[in-house]
Amino acid sequence: MTKFADLDLRAPILRAVEESGYETMTPIQSKAIPKVLEGKDLIAVAQTGTGKTAAFSLPIIQLLVNGEGKRKPKTARSLILAPTRELALQIEENIRGYAKYLHYKIALVFGGVSQKPQVKSLSQGTDILIATPGRLLDLMNQGHVRLNEVEYFVLDEADRMLDMGFIRDIKKIVATLPKKRQTLFFSATMPKTVEGLANSILTNPHRVDIAPAATTADKVDQYVLFVPKNLKNKLLAHILKDETIDRAIIFTRTKHGANRVSKKLDQLGITSAAIHGNKSQNARQAALNQFRDGEIRTLVATDVAARGIDVDGISHVINFDLPNEEESYVHRIGRTARAGKTGISLSFCDHEERAYLKGIERLIRQKIKIMDNHPFHIEGIQPADYAKADDDEEDTTRRPRRPRNRGRNNKRRNQPSNKQEKSTNPAKSRRPAKGPHTAKPNKNKNKKRRPNPKQR
Ligand code: AMP
Repeated sequence: MTKFADLDLRAPILRAVEESGYETMTPIQSKAIPKVLEGKDLIAVAQTGTGKTAAFSLPIIQLLVNGEGKRKPKTARSLILAPTRELALQIEENIRGYAKYLHYKIALVFGGVSQKPQVKSLSQGTDILIATPGRLLDLMNQGHVRLNEVEYFVLDEADRMLDMGFIRDIKKIVATLPKKRQTLFFSATMPKTVEGLANSILTNPHRVDIAPAATTADKVDQYVLFVPKNLKNKLLAHILKDETIDRAIIFTRTKHGANRVSKKLDQLGITSAAIHGNKSQNARQAALNQFRDGEIRTLVATDVAARGIDVDGISHVINFDLPNEEESYVHRIGRTARAGKTGISLSFCDHEERAYLKGIERLIRQKIKIMDNHPFHIEGIQPADYAKADDDEEDTTRRPRRPRNRGRNNKRRNQPSNKQEKSTNPAKSRRPAKGPHTAKPNKNKNKKRRPNPKQR
């Protein structure tokens, strides 16, 4: 069975699916939907980008038809838990699309915004409630919603939930669900802790494994670019000169890093917005909309904020920093090459990130190709002078770095400083301007110091 039309779905649902432009099911959909329609619990190992949202939404929309209109005040007939606001919003948007010819009450609940409208949307009861765990628990504790009528329960991105520390919240929520229910459990990866959680909440589940983390990366053309940390901004600017990169998402490890990169891009005249946990929900959504509508060319994001971002046509994923969790790498690059398309990922790697790179390559079971035809390429141990310089001349918000390797590097530091960049920037002038570490990259110097390029 490969076509939606072959499924035993009601006409209004099929019509909405057709209007979404989908005819053929993705593997997760063809394997999961019939089993869910049969009433089975499901455990699915699948990532975003595989079509998993439709895989759980469509059968639930169909199953809820039995007993339509039976909702009771302050209860929900089905509950979908997602780890982040972005993912919850995405799920809601998809479900509203698939259920547009039915008369369901759909509610969305997440933190960081006023609870008032959410409380109102719950008051008369909902058919489908999409929620993040923290706010849902809050509202439950305040008596605005009870889960004792839930017939269908979906836990989406379970591994991420655990990574984000939601395990206790989830357990509290699950404890209030009726024993007799159908549960669908989705996770991109299935480490032991996640398996344990699955076993505790599922009954005799049907299992579907789609594209385990190790192979999902196959559709993405992946490159690693070795670059000293302080030259990553310059490398980014160099790469974005290529105008065929029309929609790129750039990942940083930290919120401050995201702000810094976005600011730098703005200075270069490259439109961008940063999204991370410190931004208000409205700011995050506005940035996402601008990105989706093509008003900005780049979105700079941290891992957590990026969960659930579903934007078509992301041509490039740029890892400004490599993630310290290997699995985040797979999530990140999965933002491109969605729904059968191909995409490119470029990962910047300084010498301190080599260990992360190794871990990632182990996980995806492939060597990432080295892209060395850029002006800042440097492999092997980074010379100490590179490690000290800070490329963020304009960024006066950063404390000047104390020189590292003092004493260890006297030979180079005592060289004549004729290559030194002149700077009027106060942050920079406070920095000890001793050696060539403040100089612009010097290709010859790189060449001389570069070890065998094939050595990794
Ligand atoms: P998801 O894994 O749910 O995040 O979905 C990834 C993307 O695939 C979304 O943009 C969906 O709209 C899209 N999609 C879902 N199902 C299909 C399908 N059967 N054919 C083509 N695209 C799909």
